[in-house]
Amino acid sequence: MTVTTSIPFIDLQAQRERIDADLRRRLDAVLEHGQFILGPEVADFESRLGRMCDVAHVQACANGTDALVLALRALGVEPGDRVVVPAYTFSATAEAVALCGAIPVFADVDARTFNVTAETVGEAMARPDADGAPPVGVIVVDLFGQAPDYETIEAVAYASSAWVLADAAQSIGGSFDGRPVGSLARVTTASFFPAKPLGCYGDGGAVLTHDPEIAELLASLHFHGKGEHQYDNVRVGYNSRLDSLQAAVLLAKLEVFEDECDRRQTVAARYSAALEDVACVPWLDPQARSVWAQYTLLLEPEARDAVAATLRGRGVPVGIYYPIPVHRQTAYRKYARDLVLPVAEDLSRRALSLPMHAYLDESIQDAVIAELRRAL
Ligand SMILES: *Cc1c(COP(=O)(O)O)cnc(C)c1O
Repeated sequence: MTVTTSIPFIDLQAQRERIDADLRRRLDAVLEHGQFILGPEVADFESRLGRMCDVAHVQACANGTDALVLALRALGVEPGDRVVVPAYTFSATAEAVALCGAIPVFADVDARTFNVTAETVGEAMARPDADGAPPVGVIVVDLFGQAPDYETIEAVAYASSAWVLADAAQSIGGSFDGRPVGSLARVTTASFFPAKPLGCYGDGGAVLTHDPEIAELLASLHFHGKGEHQYDNVRVGYNSRLDSLQAAVLLAKLEVFEDECDRRQTVAARYSAALEDVACVPWLDPQARSVWAQYTLLLEPEARDAVAATLRGRGVPVGIYYPIPVHRQTAYRKYARDLVLPVAEDLSRRALSLPMHAYLDESIQDAVIAELRRAL
């Protein structure tokens, strides 16, 4: 018997019902004015996101991967440069580096936070390389919605004159030490892929920065390297814009986002209280507020795949983020050769993510908990 026929892993329909009237009004406004690219919704969204994240400049763009590429280009990454990235992340973090012709240097992560630390970044930066050039920068990922302590990581990077870029694709809405994600690093990237905590109804992304010079470069780079105007091209750039319909969706979602972030705390706390005796529940840095892009448990490596299969068989959708660490992926092995990163490799065999969204009601959550306890 399955607990129910359809527990969603992420329930976008419950959210849509809540925002429906506002959403349709905003979408209609775009259909009426017809400025599908660079309509007023885009600038409005940029300024609202900037205010929420306590950052001066926001450049919306086409998706979170482009946001990383644009940020890397604005930071001056050149082909052949080495850039430190976590081995345990969605592959797009390393992909953006490779797309710039640069070389990803994989850092291991912390077993409790799933994030890189000052130690693992320091180890990756010091790792000898054939050409001897030290990494020019570090991309930190706030995995599953929790930001690490950027100041300690920056101290290590800045000591070697490397920059730090925050990949906040999963963590917009979170904070560290009371400061919102988006303001924690000099440059931060976001993704609005539908399944992210703040998602649109298609692809979307943004780069956030405190630095006016980076902001100016981003404004040019995302629009074919424009200069004074659209038909003045001063550098080779990209076509990477957020469209007005997606900006309208994001504006509607921002209206309820803070409340959704609160609800996610409640859902996560309920999972942890109910499961801490049977699984390794996620650890939260007391200084961090996670936005819980994923609620990820660690199981015994021998049990994980069987438990996932049992749960799916009983109608409980679960995710495995990530089954293969990036340095072991076919596309990226060439950058890692025989590099062993024990924590990332161990996590990839143990991680299991449960249904997580702001509208997970208690009865469905209790069913997920009961099925998991039974499967264990
Ligand atoms: C989703 C994600 C991205 C890429 O975002 P897209 O909008 O899908 O291109 C990059 N980094 C991380 C950590 C992500 O989770």
